[in-house]
Amino acid sequence: MSGMTAVESTPVTRDAQWQELRATAQELAEKFSARSEQNYDRGEFVADNIRDLIESGITAVNVPEEMGGFEATLEENTLLLRIIAGGCGSTAFTLAIHAVLTGSMRSDLSAAVRERMFSAVRDGAFIVGPFTDEGSGGNWVRPSTVARREGDGFVLDGLKHFATGFDAATHLVVTAGLDDAHLEPPFNLAAFFVEKPEQGVEVTAPWSGFALPMTGSHSIALTSLHVSADDSVFPDGLTPLFVMARQQWGHYCFAAVFLGLAHRAYELAVERTRGRSTTAVADLAKLPGIQFAVARMRSSLATMDALLTEYATRHVDAGDDLPAFVADTCIPKYFITNEAEHVVATAFEVIGGSGIREGSRIGQIWRDVKAGPLLPFTNDLAREYIGKAALGISPVETPRWV
Ligand SMILES: Cc1cc2nc3c(=O)[nH]c(=O)nc-3n(C[C@H](O)[C@H](O)[C@H](O)COP(=O)(O)OP(=O)(O)OC[C@H]3O[C@@H](n4cnc5c(N)ncnc54)[C@H](O)[C@@H]3O)c2cc1C
Repeated sequence: MSGMTAVESTPVTRDAQWQELRATAQELAEKFSARSEQNYDRGEFVADNIRDLIESGITAVNVPEEMGGFEATLEENTLLLRIIAGGCGSTAFTLAIHAVLTGSMRSDLSAAVRERMFSAVRDGAFIVGPFTDEGSGGNWVRPSTVARREGDGFVLDGLKHFATGFDAATHLVVTAGLDDAHLEPPFNLAAFFVEKPEQGVEVTAPWSGFALPMTGSHSIALTSLHVSADDSVFPDGLTPLFVMARQQWGHYCFAAVFLGLAHRAYELAVERTRGRSTTAVADLAKLPGIQFAVARMRSSLATMDALLTEYATRHVDAGDDLPAFVADTCIPKYFITNEAEHVVATAFEVIGGSGIREGSRIGQIWRDVKAGPLLPFTNDLAREYIGKAALGISPVETPRWV
């Protein structure tokens, strides 16, 4: 990005860099929206958009300051994702995975992985995170993919259910369960940062989704995939704790994508209604039903906006009580992904039957927004964590119920 480095002798302030990043994201969102119109129904992967995001510097915003990077805050990541989602949900979600991985992994990584990860990201790397296994679903801290020790590394075997952005990936953060006898699940969880392997990874089911169809979220098989011990992201036995202490990144960045989609749905409803007349009604905007629906959406968006800002600025550090912190981070993810669906459904009603037409933008958003509550933590898990924290019950207590 042209303004990201010092120009001649005038240093560019952080604020100026941020304004430029936002403006760039806005321009790209408009470009992505136009591309989405062409490609959504075909479910074509957003490869060109990811390339544009890399060229613009947006994929490098999380590079630490001491490595010459912008070191974006969690809130700044959510704001960029909201803008991009206004143009294309698939692009925003694919970028969200990369943002979560790069943003959450600036601290506590082994020095070797940190240096390798952020030098690569600074030079245009794109990282994807196939965590969910076919055999574990949303319970990805208990993977069915297995890592066996061999020589100075590990051999991984398993089926990853979703690998969003796989076609654009230069690197992967991939999870597996160590088969060490002394490590009981979930403490056997391990994560590895690797260059996209030439061998040992194969797409078994190319992505074709009802929602977010352009994310290329293929299922992939890992077959005797060799990784080095140096690729291990966290110390053995501690990965679940490190992952939980980073849950705010996943929850807030995912929430941002669905808030961005809801916001765009609202704008479309307002644009479609203003000044529109029919043979029966001189101005649809003057109908009480339309006004009330617009007011509902507007209030809902303002609430979601305030909630996400509050959490992305004030509920960012895990502190000493990890389960309570994780429960806290569930709140905006749970509320926003579900509330966004209501806003989009209301916008659909305001726009009317034309929204059902093939290729309509509101129809695409209606489909995309359905994915929000299915992403981790799913509604059930989020409600369990939030409810147990409120009632003073540890989420790891057994038996889980009664
Ligand atoms: C478009 C898209 C892209 C994705 N991309 C990625 C990606 O890049 N990387 C990645 O790792 N994952 C990805 N995911 C997967 C996502 O993380 C999973 O959908 C999510 O974790 C839930 O898993 P599942 O869909 O297999 O559902 P399951 O875990 O099978 O859940 C099915 C139902 O059972 C409930 N349930 C399951 N286990 C429990 C439990 N322990 N307690 C209470 N209720 C439970 C759930 O709440 C849900 O209602 C993607 C998903 C989508 C839709």
